[in-house]
Amino acid sequence: MKVTRRGFFKITAAGSTSLAALGFSPAEALAQARQFKLQRTSETRNTCPYCSVGCGLILYGLGDRSKNSRTAIIHIEGDPDHPVNRGTLCPKGASLIDFIHSPDRLKYPEYREPGGTGWKRVTWDWALGRIARLMKEDRDRNFLAQNGALTVNRWTTTAFLAASASSNETGYLTVKVLRALGMTALDNQARV
Ligand code: SF4
Repeated sequence: MKVTRRGFFKITAAGSTSLAALGFSPAEALAQARQFKLQRTSETRNTCPYCSVGCGLILYGLGDRSKNSRTAIIHIEGDPDHPVNRGTLCPKGASLIDFIHSPDRLKYPEYREPGGTGWKRVTWDWALGRIARLMKEDRDRNFLAQNGALTVNRWTTTAFLAASASSNETGYLTVKVLRALGMTALDNQARV
């Protein structure tokens, strides 16, 4: 049977009307299919890492979180309960799934020696030990306890960049530790 473009739309409209008459709603059916896609996933709430707006996210992971399995994130959307974005995301935040699965994403620490031309992979132990050593050396050299008669206890030559995805508790502890060291320059991309 040859169907023209106009004929195709007539048949489709008639079909939808008949289905609705039988109590079957295509809109509800489509919504059910979407729900099914996320049915077996687990939800994790987080913050978009891109800008200072700090929009809330829900990450949907597939996997039962058992010890020998890895969860794969299959969908990300705005968190409707988040006071900043109320479920919305800008195009950058809406494409976060590609950032997470990008083959270029950095997943471990790397080091480039002074004068070196390439990066080499290092362990977290090595990287954290080196960071701690460099911080201590810089603080020993530049910590300022007094400014004239005024006690200031400040360390202004090293800055700290925290992560927007940290929890409240991690953020609280980060500020406490760094202020105790006298560090004044502390920031993160989401300002949360
Ligand atoms: S979703 Fe867009 S506006 Fe919101 S924090 Fe991410 S980049 Fe910023």
